[in-house]
Amino acid sequence: MLPFDKFREECGVVAIYAHPEAEKLAYLGLHALQHRGQESAGIVSSNGLTLQLHRSMGLVADIFTEEVLAKLHGTLAIGHTRYSTAGDSALFNAQPITVQSNKGMIALAHNGNLVNAAEIRGRLEAQGSIFQTNSDTEVIVHLIALSKEHTLPEAIADALRRVEGAFSLVILSIDRIFAVRDPRGFRPLAMGRIPREEGLKPDTIVFASETSAFDLIGATYEREVKPGELVVVGPEGISSRFFAAAQPQSSCIFEHVYFSRPDSIVFGRQVQESREELGRQLAREAPVEADIVVPVPDSGVTAAVGYADQSGIPFRFGLIRNHYVGRTFIEPQQSVRDFGVKLKLNPVRSLLEGKRVVLIDDSIVRGTTSRKIVRMIRGAGATEVHMRISCPPTISPCFYGVDTPSKKQLIAANKTVEEIREYIGADSLAYLSLEGMKKACGEDEKTTYCTACYTGSYPTNWVDLEEIQPAINKS
Ligand code: SF4
Repeated sequence: MLPFDKFREECGVVAIYAHPEAEKLAYLGLHALQHRGQESAGIVSSNGLTLQLHRSMGLVADIFTEEVLAKLHGTLAIGHTRYSTAGDSALFNAQPITVQSNKGMIALAHNGNLVNAAEIRGRLEAQGSIFQTNSDTEVIVHLIALSKEHTLPEAIADALRRVEGAFSLVILSIDRIFAVRDPRGFRPLAMGRIPREEGLKPDTIVFASETSAFDLIGATYEREVKPGELVVVGPEGISSRFFAAAQPQSSCIFEHVYFSRPDSIVFGRQVQESREELGRQLAREAPVEADIVVPVPDSGVTAAVGYADQSGIPFRFGLIRNHYVGRTFIEPQQSVRDFGVKLKLNPVRSLLEGKRVVLIDDSIVRGTTSRKIVRMIRGAGATEVHMRISCPPTISPCFYGVDTPSKKQLIAANKTVEEIREYIGADSLAYLSLEGMKKACGEDEKTTYCTACYTGSYPTNWVDLEEIQPAINKS
C-alpha cells in the first residue's frame, strides 16, 4: 500500500491477560499491527497494584526501547497504535487513555469512531466534566466514570449503551481485561490463547484487532468477540455478556478489501481468501485481452494474483516499490515530473516494453496517483494499460474509523467511470461490482458487511452532512 493518495487505516488494539511479560507481548502485538496506524502508540500495564503508562508519537519499534519496557513491567497490559481518525494528531490524543474513577483506575484503547461523541461531550461539559483530549474516545471514559452502576462491568455496559458508532475496545483495570465490540460489529476484535506451561498459572488470554498479532506471540486464535459482546477476563475466569440489543451486523468490508493483513483472520475469515477471490471475481466481470497482469504494490498484489489465476494471463512484478522512503525527501530544484510517485515506485522496463498491461489496484481515491502510475507504465514502453480496481467506486466518506477524504475529494463521487478513465489516461477502466465484492468476501456465510463508502447508505444516523456533499463543480 502506498502512503499517499490512499485511505488511511484507523487503529490497532491489543490486550494481554496473565503473562509474566505482558508488556513485551503487547509490544510485539502492536508491532504486528503497525500497518493499522503509524502516528502514535501506547501501552498501559498492571503489576497488580497500579497501572503504568507510556505513550509517544512515532512507530512502535522506536517508542518502546528496553528501558521503556522495563518501566512497564506487569502481568496484564493493553496497547494501541494510532492513526488519528477523530481529534488532532498530537500526543495528548494518543492512547490508551487512563482515568481514576470511583471504580478504580482504568485504561482504555479504542479502534473505531463514535458518531454521537460531539453531542455527548457537549452535554457532559455542560454538566461540568473537563475533557483532556479532543478525541471521541474520552467520551467513553467519562461515561464509565460517571455511571451510577456499582461495579465496573455494569458501568462499562451502561456507558456503551449510550454511545453510537464503531468501537472495538480493550479496557484494563488493576486485575481485569475487558474486550468489547459495538452491536453492529464494525471493526474487528479477535480472542486468542497461549496455553499455560505445565503446573503454572492460568492460560494467557489475548485480544487483538487482527490475528497477525497472535502469530508473533505464539497465541492460537479462538474466536471473534461478537458484535455487542463484553468479555471480562479476571481472577474468576472468563465471562461474557451482551450489553445491548442486537443490531443488524455491518462489519467493515474495507478490512477485507484493503486494510487488514492478508495473513490475518478478520471477522472469522482469512483475509487472503477474500482478497484473491476479489481478483478472480474482477477477472470474471471485467476480462481484457492482455499480455501481463501487474499489481500496484503492495495494495494490489493479492487481488492481482487472483486476477492472473482466473484469466490465465501471467502475473508479473512490473512495478517495484522502494520500502525505505521516509516522510520528507528533498526534491531537486529542477523539479522532476511525478517525483513523489517515482520515489516510491519504479517500473521494470524489460517486463513492460511492448506489452498490453492489466494494472490492478484496490482503490482510486483522488485519481492523482493512478494517473501518474499509468503514465509511468506507458513511459516504460507498455502499449496498452487496462486499469482494474478490486472493489466498486468509493463515493462516500467513512464515519466509522477510516480516514477518508470528504466527498468533494473522492474522484468517483464527482466523475463517471469513463471520466475517471480519461483522467487517469488508461485504455480501459473497470471496477468490481458491489455484489461481486460482497460475494468474494463471503457475505452471508457468517458476516454481513457495511458497504456505506460504496453506496452512501449508512447503517447509523448521525452522519456529518457537510462531508457527504459532492463537489459543486464537476471537473
Ligand atoms: S463506510 Fe466503508 S470504510 Fe467505513 S465502515 Fe463502512 S465499509 Fe468500512
